[in-house]
Amino acid sequence: MSIRFDGKVVLITGAGAGLGRVHALAFAARGAKVVINDFGGSRDGTGSSTTAAQAVVDEIRKAGGTAIANGANVADAEQVQAMVDQAMAEFGRIDILVNNAGILRDKSFAKSQPEDFKLVLDVHLMGSINCSKAVWDVMRAQNYGRILMTTSAAGLYGNFGQANYGSAKMALVGLMNVLSVEGRKNNIKVNTIAPVAATRMTEDVLPAEALQRIQPERVTPGVLYLCSEEAPTKVILAAGGGTFSTATIMETAPVHLPDTELSPEGVAARFGQIADWNTARAYNEVNEQVQMFLAPVAG
Ligand code: NAD
Repeated sequence: MSIRFDGKVVLITGAGAGLGRVHALAFAARGAKVVINDFGGSRDGTGSSTTAAQAVVDEIRKAGGTAIANGANVADAEQVQAMVDQAMAEFGRIDILVNNAGILRDKSFAKSQPEDFKLVLDVHLMGSINCSKAVWDVMRAQNYGRILMTTSAAGLYGNFGQANYGSAKMALVGLMNVLSVEGRKNNIKVNTIAPVAATRMTEDVLPAEALQRIQPERVTPGVLYLCSEEAPTKVILAAGGGTFSTATIMETAPVHLPDTELSPEGVAARFGQIADWNTARAYNEVNEQVQMFLAPVAG
């Protein structure tokens, strides 16, 4: 079955370069009308210009597609609302939001300043919140929506020097978890991509030979699937170099300590069993997990 986006409107943030640009070209090639957002700043989030977004729009139009440019800073809720108003005025609907815009302020935690955290959280987390919030009522009214977050292995698993980035990226998983639950009754599916790709973000951290194998084009098919009619929801899809896997948060089976063992020593004595990943499972919602702790336990 071929995946098409004819009649669908897609808003992609940070689509003037890197992964966002390639996602945008692929959506347009499969029939979508695309809103190319990019504020055109440098990798650390300074400066701005609309030329990056406009260049991608020109590229799409040249290939016969439909696109408009927008230079909103996703961290600014008013600019984001104006962008969504522009998209609605132009196309009348928004079916898909790809939260992709991002910056880096890599520093060891010892050297980090509060401003680094604020800026990175503002762009990745508040940017994704602002955009998701601005399209939410549109999608609810349409009874159709697909929202994608962009996380990173730096947040899922940890990486030296990326405390601000890792915190922001992991927060997006929490946002996906809740929005996928709240969007369920309106056919709004919310997923997350965890990409690895050769862009200006990675050009100086990976060897040239590896970079050649991980062009953004090798991530984008996963993004289109997660935004399609048949999309799952609440999935974290890791993607790089044409290789795909899924990540999830799991929890080991609960181990009840009777009052006679309820001490730090008791936890230590049973920790092997408490942390036995062979018993692990994922939960669909918070209540399922909480019930495991509220249930009366024998012994
Ligand atoms: P990139 O720097 O090429 O692209 C990011 C784009 O976002 C830029 O064009 C930039 O101008 C835009 N942008 C930044 N701040 C913005 C703002 N406030 N408002 C609007 N646009 C803004 O980097 P990329 O590698 O293509 O990154 C895309 C996404 O993928 C990011 O969220 C990044 O964190 C994530 N990611 C990338 C990798 C990788 O290996 N490249 C790995 C994990 C996650």
